[in-house]
Amino acid sequence: MRKALLIADGRPNEDPNELDIYATQRLVEMYPAVVSRHFMIRVNALVTFMLNSDEVFCGQVEDYWWRIEFQNRGSRIPHLHMIVWIKDHPLLDTPEGLQRIDHVSSCELTVQDAELHDLVRKVQIHRHSHICGKKGPNSRCRFGYPRNPCAQTHMVDLDSRDFITNGGRVCNLKRTSEERYVNNYNPILLKLSQANTDILPFGSNETIAHYIAKYISKSEPEGVTNSIAQAIREIRREESNISRQLFRICMRILKERQVSACECVFRLGHLNLKAAIHLTSIPFHLARDWSFFPPIQVEKSGAPFI
Ligand SMILES: [Zn+2]
Repeated sequence: MRKALLIADGRPNEDPNELDIYATQRLVEMYPAVVSRHFMIRVNALVTFMLNSDEVFCGQVEDYWWRIEFQNRGSRIPHLHMIVWIKDHPLLDTPEGLQRIDHVSSCELTVQDAELHDLVRKVQIHRHSHICGKKGPNSRCRFGYPRNPCAQTHMVDLDSRDFITNGGRVCNLKRTSEERYVNNYNPILLKLSQANTDILPFGSNETIAHYIAKYISKSEPEGVTNSIAQAIREIRREESNISRQLFRICMRILKERQVSACECVFRLGHLNLKAAIHLTSIPFHLARDWSFFPPIQVEKSGAPFI
């Protein structure tokens, strides 16, 4: 992407590796259309590769769903949330399933492949920042770092305290004490994307629902919601004509919604913000006393990865 930004800036002959973080950030802010378009080209290439290769997940991708996310929910530049279903995947909590997880996802810090070795150190190491909420020795990192060392990969019981303290992660990957800050990665996807990735195995509709509720369907920032609510109250008090009321409320909502430059490009340029092979619903039931529905069997035969 740095190369594309340099070309857009009229400096095609400069080495993109010479750009530091500040120079890169400046170019990202100057050329949001280049960033957005380039990002989508990479997403489409990645999805096409995954659909045509059984290597990444040790099996055929039979379905997927993804969504692009922007500012106030992470960085201002776009990033991708994706769920994939793998055909005929063994149950995760079996020796075959755990073996497959170890093959597909890793947090190894030291690997033979020199390019992968450098990439893990460059983009997969978590460093606390304002985003994770870690402000001092007594505050918690919302991404759960440092993660506990683990001798063997194992699934976490949904009823256990581990599930809560893991931030809803249903699997603990084997990791050494040196690997406590390494984010889970897939070696092939990491080399293809050259960007930070976090890959998680999921074994049930309930855990997918948890992921969607926690990471994908986040509400608007609290301050904006309150501001809009206050504005609507004022408009209803000041304006008696219903049509004009609605128009003013719509304009106020459009004005208050915080949108990054990249999101503007996506929306104005009709770039896809979400996609799937099939439109599916995910049935799930609330556990124990909260159950409204009887337990429902997982509809898909394959196990999902996120
Ligand atoms: Zn942190």
